[in-house]
Amino acid sequence: MYEELRELFYNKKQEFCIVSDRIEDEKRFIRQFADLFRLDTLKPGLDTILTALYEGRVKFILKLDEEVNLNPKIILEGYCSTKTITEDHGNILGKFQTKHYEIVIKNLALEVIMHEITHALEFESTVDLSLEFFEIIKHDINNWQKTHIHLSSAIKRILYQDLKYYPRNEINSELLARFIQLISSGKDVHKTAKDYYFSSEEVMSLFKSTSIWLWQKFNPMLLQKTNDRIYRSTETISQWVRKQKQTQDFGIRSLHKDPNKPDQTQNSRPQWSKFIKKKLD
Ligand SMILES: [Zn+2]
Repeated sequence: MYEELRELFYNKKQEFCIVSDRIEDEKRFIRQFADLFRLDTLKPGLDTILTALYEGRVKFILKLDEEVNLNPKIILEGYCSTKTITEDHGNILGKFQTKHYEIVIKNLALEVIMHEITHALEFESTVDLSLEFFEIIKHDINNWQKTHIHLSSAIKRILYQDLKYYPRNEINSELLARFIQLISSGKDVHKTAKDYYFSSEEVMSLFKSTSIWLWQKFNPMLLQKTNDRIYRSTETISQWVRKQKQTQDFGIRSLHKDPNKPDQTQNSRPQWSKFIKKKLD
């Protein structure tokens, strides 16, 4: 299945759009990209970035050994640079502008990849984050209830502490990228969950209004940008990675099964799936 996903990293000119010095890094990147498809919430964004890549507008660059220091106060694990290119299509069609993205990954981790992709998705969606989004996430940030220590400290670090080093005009973009980064840090997204202490569902429950905005406003805008062929191909990948995870979880759970508790492994689809808008059929 990783081979099928790898095929989606070729643009329409048949150029491969992952730049990496080592084949192992490229393989790890593709495996992690596949893992992100475990979450319904992330699929519209992943499909949109693969669509833009097919159109020749995205390049992923893996620079794992290189120091990247754009701002000395922030340890960057990656960055996304955006270029606007004006294309001239002659007198009848006229000129129009397209966005091109170079997504540099310095630390190969699911949540880093998703954070940097989200910066590109903000432009692809054409959403103005300074309007509704900012008010909604501000409300959630001011009202979330303290939860277990791992999730509380992740929220404080990702949504508060690190943010103070960013200029005011980048805060909204960072808030969106960091919120989606938090969701991607859930143990339900990772194949091996032992190093992760909270689930994506817990993050979405704490930031309910922002999560609803994501499903009802942001993701539908992205769905409109998605190529149907890519949408269908990644549907198969999503099902496959979920099955892999279930096998793994079942393996762990079977060692610790409490015979007095009902088995909750069935029907454990996230409640957010009810918001999915079917694009096809
Ligand atoms: Zn960022």
